[in-house]
Amino acid sequence: MSFDTDIVIAGGGLNGSALALALASGGLRVTLVEPSSTAARSDDNFSGRGYALALSSQRLLKALGIWDSVGSDAQPILDIKITDGKVGQTPSSFVLEFDHAEIEEGPMGYMLEDRYLRRALLGALEASPNITAITGQSVQDHSSDDAGVAVTLSGGQTLRAKLLVGCDGKTSPTAKRAGIRHQGWRYGQTALVCAIAHERGHDGTAHQYFMPSGPLAILPLPGNRSSIVWTETDAAAAAIQALDDADYLEVLRPRFGDFLGEISLAGARFSYPLSLSLAERFVADRVALLGDAAHAVHPIAGQGLNAGLKDVAALAEVLVDAKRRGEDPGRSDVLHRYEQWRRFDTTTLAIATDGFNRLFSNDNPIVRLTRDVGMGIVNAMPGLRRAFIREAAGLTGTLPRLSQGRPL
Ligand SMILES: Cc1cc2nc3c(=O)[nH]c(=O)nc-3n(C[C@H](O)[C@H](O)[C@H](O)COP(=O)(O)OP(=O)(O)OC[C@H]3O[C@@H](n4cnc5c(N)ncnc54)[C@H](O)[C@@H]3O)c2cc1C
Repeated sequence: MSFDTDIVIAGGGLNGSALALALASGGLRVTLVEPSSTAARSDDNFSGRGYALALSSQRLLKALGIWDSVGSDAQPILDIKITDGKVGQTPSSFVLEFDHAEIEEGPMGYMLEDRYLRRALLGALEASPNITAITGQSVQDHSSDDAGVAVTLSGGQTLRAKLLVGCDGKTSPTAKRAGIRHQGWRYGQTALVCAIAHERGHDGTAHQYFMPSGPLAILPLPGNRSSIVWTETDAAAAAIQALDDADYLEVLRPRFGDFLGEISLAGARFSYPLSLSLAERFVADRVALLGDAAHAVHPIAGQGLNAGLKDVAALAEVLVDAKRRGEDPGRSDVLHRYEQWRRFDTTTLAIATDGFNRLFSNDNPIVRLTRDVGMGIVNAMPGLRRAFIREAAGLTGTLPRLSQGRPL
């Protein structure tokens, strides 16, 4: 039986691209299929979108040789301050603070703009001899048998491989074709995303204000700039997004406060409707799901991509180890090793982010008092605080080699 490639990846988003590089670094031949063009994905305009990358994600990018080209554009996150807030009021005195100095590993993570990460991944994909990137086409169909999987592209070509990995986002066509259902719901909330410039320095501190309509995150970018992820109910978000820039800032200012001085917009404004989506299974016959295709969570903790990059590290380790042992990487017992490794962690993340959103997007005075006292208790307990910091940095659980910064 001849194969065109070892693994076909459907979806060249951040997770699909990182997976292609990880598998290629372990000697597997990969074909990556992505509907949008390379030019569209390497657009240098600042999209206002940035990611809070946990230390485990930074280590994976370093192990894949990506970090050297983006590190100088990243902002270390040195401190996280979490406060209960209400529009126009001084924040509650119950502040929960996580200082990176409480752990030995250094910054808890880094803020990195989407454009830098995407461009670095694209450059590395092009440079890898083990990767064939097919852009401007989608995966339209697949069928599997004992020996492999036949993957049909929108252009009519059929590729024969040992495994198809669906990295095709939260509406994953791969999952639907494989008969994998998703559980989940819409939150009735939309995240408004933009970057702002401000008068004063942020000292590497990330702020999270819990407002009754949803959380407002102010995340430090290099220079006097921050990335804003501002959650409102769908109706309020639509009305705010329709405002012109000056009126948009007028609505943001009383939520933001004046601790960074005068603020202005530093790029375009975006909005993302929020939903939870968790695949019932992560694997099927010669198919694996990864990233948002397997689990798309509320951005309240900034952990969606971090969880996807841990999937990347785990699946790459399982498949490359299988190859070294002479096993077929698409065999079901191999794929179940990946599912067992990642399913519990990602389900816990989905439940935790869902619960935090319900607990904090709430103006009930009793719930407010309970969570304020809860934050005060965590803040007063250094051991518990350190545990939260290690969790945010992605340093808990059985870490795959790439997430530890080691080669495969
Ligand atoms: C407002 C907001 C803020 C966030 N902030 C953070 C943060 O700070 N930190 C963090 O860790 N995470 C964050 N996240 C989550 C993060 O953005 C996502 O988890 C991550 O981008 C998902 O990447 P992905 O590659 O899995 O999926 P996607 O980015 O959805 O990529 C899927 C790809 O599949 C392609 N595709 C679709 N159909 C097909 C097909 N049939 N064939 C081939 N390809 C196909 C699409 O074109 C696309 O390129 C945030 C999310 C939101 C909404």
